[in-house]
Amino acid sequence: MFFFRKIVYNLGLALYFIIYYRFKYFKFIKEYFFIKKNQNKSIEHNLSLQKERLYNIINFAIKNVPYYKGIVEQKSISISKNSIFEDLKKFPILTKEIIRNNWNDLFPDLKNKRTFITTSGGTTGEPIKIINDEDFIVKSSAAIKSFFEISDFYSGDRLLRVWGDERLILNESIGRFNYFKNKFLKNTFFQNTFRMSDSIIRKYIKEINLIKPKIIYAYIQSIEEIAKFIKKNNLNIVPIKSIITTSGILTNGIRIFLEDVFNCKVFNFYGSREISITGISCKNSNKLHINMYQKYIEIVDNDFQNVNEHEKGEIIITNLINYCMPMIRYRIGDMGSLDYSQCLCGRGLIRFDNVYGRYIDLFKNHKGELIYGDFFTHLFYFRENVKQFQVVQEKSNEINISIVTYNNNKLDESVEKDLTEKIHVVMGKGCEVNFYYVSSIDPCNSGKLRYTISKVL
Ligand SMILES: [Zn+2]
Repeated sequence: MFFFRKIVYNLGLALYFIIYYRFKYFKFIKEYFFIKKNQNKSIEHNLSLQKERLYNIINFAIKNVPYYKGIVEQKSISISKNSIFEDLKKFPILTKEIIRNNWNDLFPDLKNKRTFITTSGGTTGEPIKIINDEDFIVKSSAAIKSFFEISDFYSGDRLLRVWGDERLILNESIGRFNYFKNKFLKNTFFQNTFRMSDSIIRKYIKEINLIKPKIIYAYIQSIEEIAKFIKKNNLNIVPIKSIITTSGILTNGIRIFLEDVFNCKVFNFYGSREISITGISCKNSNKLHINMYQKYIEIVDNDFQNVNEHEKGEIIITNLINYCMPMIRYRIGDMGSLDYSQCLCGRGLIRFDNVYGRYIDLFKNHKGELIYGDFFTHLFYFRENVKQFQVVQEKSNEINISIVTYNNNKLDESVEKDLTEKIHVVMGKGCEVNFYYVSSIDPCNSGKLRYTISKVL
């Protein structure tokens, strides 16, 4: 039965790729087997594969992308395959500000290319747009499939996503269709955690016992809230094979708590909207195996100098597979440290000791429901003219939004109205929503700007 189901879902997956990306399906398969074949070889072997890909994308960028052409000319940088890890350090860090200011010079010729726009989730409160192409999407999908298998998730396994989607709350039809499609074609179920109350959590726990998912893939804070409820009310929960957490910071305390409540292994996943899958932990260790085939990771200090093994610093990512928008030394805004030793599981992949993404606040409305901070963040995706923003819950019925715009003008009244109405859906109509236009937003103590802050919880 298991193998039959596996075959059916893998065929479904193939069909999906062929319909959406035509013959790119073969690239997906090739990349998947490339990763599967090499991940158990030595770290040196994988470094040599990574070196090749790093050289190829940088060589492509300096020949085809105006921004990088300018950099090598200006700084007289020359590169060679053997010295590429050192050559890379001569390139400036790619910040969100540089991306915004050089937007027209960041691409090769994209004529006849099918491209997709995504937006960064990041930590710094500065949404930016990123362009992907089909090659990037199919290769990332191959990496997701192969790296999720580290956590025992295989295509066709029953998966429950404990996740946030503002579209369902705002009654936008596209959200519903997606979840319907995922349920029937991918055996993937969904629980929306952008709004959670005791009764919603109770309902979700009942659903988990009914659905009997093999794997739960969840926002850290959302699954933690559910686990707290189970523990507090002494509820029973069906056996789960593993939990994959993402978005936020998985501390040892939270991991141990989740493993205790669900009686299963918790795997830590690190990825982002703009860069895609970057790492996942394995059964033998809580450290995250890096997707070395598609990302090159550096950890740097405040002066952007590379730090030593195990030393915590900012994560800098060079994306090795996005040729339609090469991103060399991208400052994603998260922190971490590296471990170069061989893992007991036998995978020859460098690891993160841990990753420290952004901490997402939970808001609380007048009914006592918890609103996941990213609900507000998502309302700002693709808003023109928004450079930075910060949503602060001052009191249970007061939301203050600070906004920095590019042109120093206010947002259109219609945009403010739209934001207010959407916030009212979760916070209630009586909630006051204020907009403040400022020239800058001060970072918090950590030096990072936070999108969302709740002073109520
Ligand atoms: Zn391992």
